[in-house]
Amino acid sequence: MPKTKKQLKGKSRRRSKRRQAKINRICLILFAFVLTVGTILGVSRILTESAVIHIEAKSVEIYQDSEVPQFETFITVEGNTEIILDKTNNYSVASLVEDLEEGIALSVNCVVLENYAEGEDILEGEYIIDAYLTEEYLEKVSHEWKKKVKVEIDDGNLAVKNKIGYWEEEYIDPDQPMIALTFDDGPGDYTMELLEALEEYDVHATFFMQGYNIHEDDKETIQKMLDIGCEIGNHSTTHADFTTLNVSQIQSEINQTNEEIFDLVGVYPTVMRPPYGAVNDTVKSTVGLPIILWNVDTLDWKTNDANDVVEHILTVAGDGDIVLMHDTKEWSVEATIEVIPILLEQGYQLVTVSEMAEAHGVTMVSGGRYFFFD
Ligand code: ZN
Repeated sequence: MPKTKKQLKGKSRRRSKRRQAKINRICLILFAFVLTVGTILGVSRILTESAVIHIEAKSVEIYQDSEVPQFETFITVEGNTEIILDKTNNYSVASLVEDLEEGIALSVNCVVLENYAEGEDILEGEYIIDAYLTEEYLEKVSHEWKKKVKVEIDDGNLAVKNKIGYWEEEYIDPDQPMIALTFDDGPGDYTMELLEALEEYDVHATFFMQGYNIHEDDKETIQKMLDIGCEIGNHSTTHADFTTLNVSQIQSEINQTNEEIFDLVGVYPTVMRPPYGAVNDTVKSTVGLPIILWNVDTLDWKTNDANDVVEHILTVAGDGDIVLMHDTKEWSVEATIEVIPILLEQGYQLVTVSEMAEAHGVTMVSGGRYFFFD
């Protein structure tokens, strides 16, 4: 029996309904699939993802007598801060950052703080500001949290400048013993060798030069004295006994050497030593510079023996002493090279006369006589 139009219509409607349901089912399955995969992917992403926390200790610059400020840190995070580090208390990367900021998980220290806490002065120089995780957190970050969070730390730098505001390579501790080695009559054939030794040990000396011995080709030597922190002194022009001279003769002895040194290196001597240590009132009122004498005479000009000079210094010289030697004598230079490391080992600082005066709070004046400092 042929089917009516109505029958045919009903059949096709049923078929399209079935098709619709099928499409819906597929959509639902697809949706569930996407949802599941998405969830898996998302969860695994959180599980495998890690965060990087970067900590930087802020560098500071202070003056020697000022207070040491609280050290600061900059903390930045890259990655997901929601990562859970500890499920039991829902402790996340964000919680860790908070604990770092509050100083629970982080300490910042500098070696100078120990001295500072004991009331000591902080010496001029540069010191590391050390930022580090406290023990408990370091343990966790390096073990159980290792795959979830990485902590990078950059140390800072504490720069301590001296009170007058310029940087000094060497700092003299006024509370530690010091000796001023002084050399007369140069520059001589062994002066450069001596300077190289002083430079090697990073110590200072004072050179009382006589104009008669200063030549064009001594420029390098005298410049080196200045470069390595030594002091330049005037020891007359002709090595005359000043007590036998009148005012204008003394002036001429001083001025000529002053000018010779100035012509070569552009600075004038800051101290003077009269030949033979000979001083009278005319000398005092005429020389125009502090008169530096000595209290330890090595007698190097007489002994001609390096061992003798070394022994003399080691038996006689002590804190605040001014030691007389001659850089024109080979054995004196030899002795000095030998004695420097021994004196350093004994705790002495080897300084210029002016440095020693300053460390002892003495302002030297022109015409004043100085034998030692205590
Ligand atoms: Zn002399």
